[in-house]
Amino acid sequence: MSILPSSPRRLRWLFLATLVAITGSVAAGDEHDHNHGDHDHGHRQHGAHVHGVAELNVAVDADSLLVELNTPAANIVGFEHPPRNAAERAAIAEARKTMADGAALFVPNAGAECAQTSHLVTLDLGDPEDHAHTEEEVHADAHGEWAFTCAKPASLKTLDVKLFEVFPGKEKLRVQLITPSGQRGDELTPERHQLDL
Ligand SMILES: [Zn+2]
Repeated sequence: MSILPSSPRRLRWLFLATLVAITGSVAAGDEHDHNHGDHDHGHRQHGAHVHGVAELNVAVDADSLLVELNTPAANIVGFEHPPRNAAERAAIAEARKTMADGAALFVPNAGAECAQTSHLVTLDLGDPEDHAHTEEEVHADAHGEWAFTCAKPASLKTLDVKLFEVFPGKEKLRVQLITPSGQRGDELTPERHQLDL
């Protein structure tokens, strides 16, 4: 299976998202919290999410390694309501900065000589005014995409996922992995956080 190596990165992400959606609908089984058809990534999703659990998509194609994260904002910044004070605004800014450095979150084995080439991070908890008159519990998601290019892709064997260390709120990562040899699901935890590619 090819991930269209010559197309622009944005198209590759769309292709990946489609592929993962297809895989997810086949593999979902008895899970009830899948939210197909509602791919409003990263902002004000009102579909079910479970704090402590996040979804990670990893794709390897030619010399590219692509990583996509969808997670409850609580896993990243510790809360999901709009910032109420300077400390909460600072926490959001700091979390965005931390998420931008994909090389500190996702570490391929050194022999592959991978370097981050681009990233896209969405962490927007909105404005307090939006929720000033509601008693409802507020939820928000964070979203990130990171692209790496590897000088020695044939040597790419593992990806150490540091999310559990960097953002300690997480308990479980549901992983969809797409490589030239096929696709599979996996699950990472604080105790087992390295993916075999
Ligand atoms: Zn939530």
